[in-house]
Amino acid sequence: MSSYLSSAQLKLIKAELLELLTSLRDEVGSELDDRQGERVHEVMKEAHDSGDEATAELESTISLAHMSRHLQEVGECQAALQRLEYGTYGLCVDCGEEIELNRLKATPVSSRCLSCQSKEEHEHRENHHASM
Ligand SMILES: [Zn+2]
Repeated sequence: MSSYLSSAQLKLIKAELLELLTSLRDEVGSELDDRQGERVHEVMKEAHDSGDEATAELESTISLAHMSRHLQEVGECQAALQRLEYGTYGLCVDCGEEIELNRLKATPVSSRCLSCQSKEEHEHRENHHASM
């Protein structure tokens, strides 16, 4: 149990997560509608001339990347809600330590403590050596 968070704090976090999830789903939903409309438009245009194909493909790649970022956020939100449900919310998924409260307030979907998160980010940036 994440005992360092009071039930009032947990309730507040849950409300925040649910609100975030709703707005994300709205955004993803409207993007899907847009994309479907775009697709119809594309097909109609393609029948006219097939010269603009590259531009249309680039545009759909961009909006796909945008959408997958949103979907990832939805996933993070759902995972955080699940941790709330199981009583493991606020505990780092890597080391099991308590995540800093300020960090949770700033980013309620945080699943790692600061040191594990920076370790992970460091690993991802392995080939990027910053020299000061
Ligand atoms: Zn950790």
